[in-house]
Amino acid sequence: MSEAAAITDRRIEILFSAAEIEAQVHRLATEIAAAMAEDVLLAAILKGSFVFAADLIRALHHAGMRPQIDFMTLASYRAGTTSAGAVDITRDLADRIAGRSVLLIDDILESGRTLAFARDRLFSRGAAQIELCVLLDKRGKRKTDIEADFVGFDCPDRFVVGYGLDYAHYFRELPFIGYLESD
Ligand code: 5GP
Ligand code: MG
Repeated sequence: MSEAAAITDRRIEILFSAAEIEAQVHRLATEIAAAMAEDVLLAAILKGSFVFAADLIRALHHAGMRPQIDFMTLASYRAGTTSAGAVDITRDLADRIAGRSVLLIDDILESGRTLAFARDRLFSRGAAQIELCVLLDKRGKRKTDIEADFVGFDCPDRFVVGYGLDYAHYFRELPFIGYLESD
């Protein structure tokens, strides 16, 4: 069996279906539209949040928002499936940040190091307001004092994949979120 097949042939147990995700994305958009300025800047952290951000921005449109979107690529060093601590910027936001109301978007909030790093970076570039939105929250795993303002799902302490989230760069295309069966 090839190295790729050894990964992609593993069974995935579904945790959140495509329909459940769609419902939560629409609920989040309604909450965000009620709480933030219409011309918010969405700052999505790549790569993991690209699918979530793509669905959320369209749900926000239906909720009456007229957001802009920009991306920031962060590398958080992980040993296998656990977070090791350091965070680096691979690609920074291009848009003007000073004075803006920003919604930071990530796939998962786990230790909190990634979002804490991104939030500090945006404040240092002069953001007026920063709210945090994550699709999944692993509440028991926090190593920093940070909470999200908008949360899609509470997530069990499993390594999850799909809907933008990867394992060894695979599984981002899955329309649902699941975990590797033997994990
Ligand atoms: P934190 O910095 O909060 O510890 O970790 C957040 C980042 O770790 C997320 O942006 C995500 O990229 C990654 N991460 C945390 N848990 C998981 C998981 O269960 N699956 C995947 N694919 N990535 C995860
Ligand atoms: Mg990430």
